[in-house]
Amino acid sequence: MDFQLTPEQRDLQQLVRDIAHRELAPLASRWDRTHEFPWDSIRALGRAGVLGLTIPERYGGVGGSWFEAVLAIEEVARVCYQTAMAVLGELGVQTQTIVHYGTDAHKARYLPAVGRGELICAICMTEPDAGSDAGAILTQATAAKDGYTINGSKVLISRADVAGVFLTFVRFGDTPGSRGVGAVLIDRGTPGLEIGPGEETLGGELLFPVYFHDVHLSPEAVLVKEHGFRKLMAAFNGQRCLNAAISLGQAQGAFDAAVTYVQTRRQFGQRLADFQGVQWMLADMAIDLDAARLLIYRAACNAGAGLPDQVEAAKAKAFANETAIHVSNQAMQLFGGHGYLKSMQVERFLRGARFGALAGGTPQIQRNIIADSLVGRRATGRARD
Ligand SMILES: Cc1cc2nc3c(=O)[nH]c(=O)nc-3n(C[C@H](O)[C@H](O)[C@H](O)COP(=O)(O)OP(=O)(O)OC[C@H]3O[C@@H](n4cnc5c(N)ncnc54)[C@H](O)[C@@H]3O)c2cc1C
Repeated sequence: MDFQLTPEQRDLQQLVRDIAHRELAPLASRWDRTHEFPWDSIRALGRAGVLGLTIPERYGGVGGSWFEAVLAIEEVARVCYQTAMAVLGELGVQTQTIVHYGTDAHKARYLPAVGRGELICAICMTEPDAGSDAGAILTQATAAKDGYTINGSKVLISRADVAGVFLTFVRFGDTPGSRGVGAVLIDRGTPGLEIGPGEETLGGELLFPVYFHDVHLSPEAVLVKEHGFRKLMAAFNGQRCLNAAISLGQAQGAFDAAVTYVQTRRQFGQRLADFQGVQWMLADMAIDLDAARLLIYRAACNAGAGLPDQVEAAKAKAFANETAIHVSNQAMQLFGGHGYLKSMQVERFLRGARFGALAGGTPQIQRNIIADSLVGRRATGRARD
């Protein structure tokens, strides 16, 4: 497998790196402190066409691949966790579900505005009693005379304060298990859609409960019908590559800061970088970063314009999520007590790095997927409908 970037991909990587250093980095601690949605950073990326990377040209995007999306989001995450999370919403599963499964009307209505950074799309999957077990959701879509009525509630939803549209996982009728699950698009302002108060998080962004009280939808609002759970999960494989790339970017940012720091800080009459114990820590961190990057690039490259392979994406996500925690923790260690100060950005990387292993399918769930591919679902005890 060849990961040589094409000249265009190198240009894209450099473009995003330049924007990240010039426009995103100076604002990163503000978004972290205030919990505001990073509109200024998102608009900067929208102006450069980055948000439309995976949107077809016909709908105002760039028509790029998952690999290009991975390259871009890694650069963003290297300087700003909040902006990377916002970009994840624009490049990720919600947009891609519309790209792959939406009607022409859905695409024309939502994609151009998403690509310009003017429309934020939330994904509403997690419920109070259905997190990792997404096939157990209870939010109900009941057939009505002229469409559907939605009732239920979601929790831990990113961007619900600013989203213009909510891609919502629902259960159609009384079909049990994951077979009954599909998805609908609910516009902000639709009667019966209520956003609860935001909760502060370790990483700095807010997460919201979302409620649906007799929300009436036309049949056109259905994006994926029942028996569509596999399709929705397939789109999540792309999300997992992007989530992994955020982890990688966070870890790389922490590592870069540590490499600089150990070359300036002196103890016992020499630079920290001159101690072999420190050098070996850096070497191990560099190995982990490269291994994570290779797994992510493989999953994203093999996907081309389609959706990444489930097992490749699972390996990349589990490894990158755990690498991010370990590498950013080691980076803080190299800063000593100074690394614990909020004024040192390394503590921000460590907090941001914790997100990946908690969202979008935990490393435990990724290991279940990998194990299923090795010994079969029945053998791993998760054979369900
Ligand atoms: C920063 C952040 C942003 C988020 N944004 C969104 C969003 O926008 N939209 C959305 O819908 N959700 C969002 N979530 C929710 C997220 O997707 C869920 O938290 C995640 O799916 C895990 O579900 P849970 O929290 O209910 O944990 P649980 O499913 O209760 O899991 C708890 C623990 O048990 C383990 N576990 C569960 N099942 C198994 C198993 N079969 N085998 C082994 N271990 C298992 C898990 O790995 C975990 O360690 C977000 C979460 C975070 C942290």
